Amino acid sequence: MQAFQEYPCPNCGSELNYDAEKRSLKCLHCGAVFAIRPSTEVIEEKNIGIFKDAETIPIAPVRVVVYRCSKCGQETQEPGDVAFFECRSCGNNVLNPAAYATRSISPAGIIPFKISKQDALDRFTQWIGKGFWNDGDLKKLSLADKLEGHYVPFWTFDCQTENHWAGYSGRYYYETVRRRNASGQEVTEQVRHTDWTWRSGSFERFFDDVLVCGNKSVPQDRINDVYPYLLNDVVVFDDEYLLGWNARAYDKDLSETYRLARTIMDGKIEAEAISRLAEDTYRDLQVQTDYSGETFKQIILPVWLCRYLFKGKTYQFIINGQTGAISGTKPLSVSKIATAVIIVLVIIIAVYLFSKSG
Ligand SMILES: [Zn+2]
Ligand SMILES: [Zn+2]
Repeated sequence: MQAFQEYPCPNCGSELNYDAEKRSLKCLHCGAVFAIRPSTEVIEEKNIGIFKDAETIPIAPVRVVVYRCSKCGQETQEPGDVAFFECRSCGNNVLNPAAYATRSISPAGIIPFKISKQDALDRFTQWIGKGFWNDGDLKKLSLADKLEGHYVPFWTFDCQTENHWAGYSGRYYYETVRRRNASGQEVTEQVRHTDWTWRSGSFERFFDDVLVCGNKSVPQDRINDVYPYLLNDVVVFDDEYLLGWNARAYDKDLSETYRLARTIMDGKIEAEAISRLAEDTYRDLQVQTDYSGETFKQIILPVWLCRYLFKGKTYQFIINGQTGAISGTKPLSVSKIATAVIIVLVIIIAVYLFSKSG
């Protein structure tokens, strides 16, 4: 039998949600606010070694769990890796603490939501541009229904690296040459040459908290746009923070995300090697890296996601639930494009008339 948890309001027995503005649990019915007692545990980085092998086993298909509501008696079915859901009939809030245990690694920390839904909608309106849509258009879109707050699993990686690099450094120098041009006149010209020197060296670099998203439904390039997350705010994971929010276990495992983290690290190492090697330019760069002290942790971060249809096209935007940073695709305003076209036409005509009169 699946053990579910319910957090009824101690005042009135109604549903409690984690409230981004109050940074506490808040009753949807009577408005009472209850603080979450922060844990004093220390969040530890884990050594990657044994886990990386364990994670090469594919994530097993997750069973459906059945919740029988303690309030209305109706049954709700959910995939077993969903950590929070509501009773389909009466909306009773239910936590499924076993959701994260369907994976081999459980979350260590979480950044609770700080950006409320209203705040997220305001940031979207500001980002899309004042006056782009009138209020009627926005209401018709009913963005509030499509904007969803998700607690998304992320992986962070720490790593010490020692890097040996070698290659040719190029220094430009110029030679003045005289030659005759097509009409037989003598002209001087600057010709660029490169002086190549073989160079090598080494440097150490420590990587702290390289962040990789652990959920396939969040595009990595889009999430990169709303970085950084301020990881000093990570607190010990507690599923009370999930009350009222979408929350699901990871679907990109440790070995897959660690490969991505390595790519990010290797890119930065190469950039540093180039800056050490190249005077004006470089060629034949070789970098050899030794990685040591590789550790990781899984943390849950807040993300607002929205997909909406506007004039037959789908658009998507994403908001950092901690800082409010936003990224997405914007529909183009037809009236703004028309205005721009008219301005360009006016300029062309003006230039034409001016050249004729001159
Ligand atoms: Zn209450
Ligand atoms: Zn119910």
